Amino acid sequence: MERLWAPWRLEYIQSVDEQPGCFLCNAASSDDEEAHLVVHRGERAFVLLNKFPYASGHLLVAPYEHGLNFDDLDGEVALEVHRLGAQGVRALRQAFGPEGFNLGWNIGRIAGAGVPDHGHLHVVPRWGGDTNFMPVLGDVKVMPEHLLETRRKLAAAF
Ligand SMILES: [Zn+2]
Repeated sequence: MERLWAPWRLEYIQSVDEQPGCFLCNAASSDDEEAHLVVHRGERAFVLLNKFPYASGHLLVAPYEHGLNFDDLDGEVALEVHRLGAQGVRALRQAFGPEGFNLGWNIGRIAGAGVPDHGHLHVVPRWGGDTNFMPVLGDVKVMPEHLLETRRKLAAAF
């Protein structure tokens, strides 16, 4: 997937990608919210912006624990992941007013999971005239808003 970005602090964000290991675990264990684009932290799960979004404001909700996927979540973690997903919908609605949402899990690389061993729920805001959720893979997306600015707005809306 080709991505076009506004020329801002991308290098700073990209430097985080050079850290070894799972990016979700790195974000979970860091206190640098901006570098990892963390929007909100709960007890058992947290919310961050997808650095490679399908749409501006694309959120990920992940348990802190590595190795859990959708079908591994116990009741409390499942509940919190879904509560944070609902909060994410509300925060996105308040901050950006999208017309709809797609929420879902990619399980396994064949299904598009970039990090198949650390499950996460995608919360993707949708606007009229944008591309459909699945066919958007392979498209060139121009992100209209800076990731850091988006992170700041959503963190405030949570
Ligand atoms: Zn992990």
